[in-house]
Amino acid sequence: MDMKDDSDRGISSMGPGTHRPSDLVSRVTATLAVVDFDLPSDDDPRRLAVRRWLADNPAPSGRQLAEAGYVAPHWPSPWGIDADPEHQLIIDDELARAGVRRPSNTIGIGWAGPTILHAGSDEQKERYLFPLLAAEEIWCQLFSEPGAGSDLAGLSTRAERDGDEYVVNGQKIWTSFGHVAAFGILIARTDPDVAKHEGISYLICPMDAPGIEVRPIIEMTGGHTFNEVFFTDVRIPVENLVGEEHRGWNLAKVTLANERVSLSGGGALWGMGPTAGDVLDLVRASGGVDDPALRQRIAALHIDEEILRLIRMRTVSARLRGETPGPEASVRKILADEHGQRMMALVKDLTGAAGMLADQGPFGGDPGMWHFGYLFSQALTIGGGTGEVQRNIIAERVLGLPHDVDVEAGRSWREARTAAVSGGT
Ligand SMILES: Cc1cc2nc3c(=O)[nH]c(=O)nc-3n(C[C@H](O)[C@H](O)[C@H](O)COP(=O)(O)OP(=O)(O)OC[C@H]3O[C@@H](n4cnc5c(N)ncnc54)[C@H](O)[C@@H]3O)c2cc1C
Repeated sequence: MDMKDDSDRGISSMGPGTHRPSDLVSRVTATLAVVDFDLPSDDDPRRLAVRRWLADNPAPSGRQLAEAGYVAPHWPSPWGIDADPEHQLIIDDELARAGVRRPSNTIGIGWAGPTILHAGSDEQKERYLFPLLAAEEIWCQLFSEPGAGSDLAGLSTRAERDGDEYVVNGQKIWTSFGHVAAFGILIARTDPDVAKHEGISYLICPMDAPGIEVRPIIEMTGGHTFNEVFFTDVRIPVENLVGEEHRGWNLAKVTLANERVSLSGGGALWGMGPTAGDVLDLVRASGGVDDPALRQRIAALHIDEEILRLIRMRTVSARLRGETPGPEASVRKILADEHGQRMMALVKDLTGAAGMLADQGPFGGDPGMWHFGYLFSQALTIGGGTGEVQRNIIAERVLGLPHDVDVEAGRSWREARTAAVSGGT
């Protein structure tokens, strides 16, 4: 696959009276569009293998894709095919060409599965992985609590051992898909008398267990993805513990580091939804924009998108060379999330006063994803680690600035919590 961008996303057609980009701008754009890899050509045997499989399975079910190893090709056999990054991209490309979509189970495939693979028992792998890959069982992530989000390790939900079971009490919040999930990955405190990171365990929680109450949270988009989840004496068998008791924090970190190589991800809403290119197309189709301030913002949007595309390509190139991506993940997240918010706000402004209405799109057109996207975009800088927390990571791990003062250092979770409640230091 040729990775060169074939579109001239210049800003020449943004408004009446503008000129084509200068040769210099064209040359710079063309240079920036080049990345340092090309995927193997059409006769690559790995491509042919996928095509043969697709010829035999022209409309594959989630289960067929999972059993072929095409849902998470980088996973080991039998769930994946141990695909290296290049092989993953070839499979993505071939599935996309054939119009085949993978099963959707974001938390199951993205977080729960890799953790079970890393630290789960053979029985857990056997029981959970194929249904998860096939999206026959949806998963949710029971991490955040009302008092523990950015400082997740401060969580209070307790899991107390009682014979062969843990008895769970507490509350989780912002649980995406909690209302449709069959299982959740739950982190809960199993030892309150050690430092907060050291007394957490990682459990597989059946969402239909007695004592679990899932209450919907309706978002300002009008949609329902989030939930609050309350636990009252919920009994979870010890066999659902993933890895070692009290070592769940390390597992939570391992989980989040497991990212599939992907070329997708240009959409402004965490890789999905419309792109800045779509905004430019709308502007061009409407005959352009005269307002100089809006024109500046449109140009800035195009520049941001190019920078993000290059960062994405650099990450993929690094993975193809066998290198582990560095701090660019945090840099990219900050840039991409704020870009998404600026883009959605710009589209609202392009819609003018009618932008206050849910059924009005830019230039009087179809509202499409724009109105939803504008409302949803507020979540971008919160979910998956807030913008401020990402900046802390860059400050400490990239720039080598001093760590935040840790007022809880040397204290167990219980001592730190007692001090916080009593206002002590
Ligand atoms: C779309 C979406 C989906 C989500 N899905 C899930 C899910 O499925 N499961 C789940 O468990 N959670 C989920 N979350 C929750 C998400 O992980 C938390 O919202 C996030 O970690 C922030 O935690 P918080 O909301 O408690 O904010 P807080 O941590 O209370 O932060 C409040 C404010 O203080 C700032 N702040 C906090 N600490 C610092 C610091 N040290 N330095 C500087 N500023 C700081 C933050 O940046 C923020 O502005 C989801 C969130 C979103 C938006």
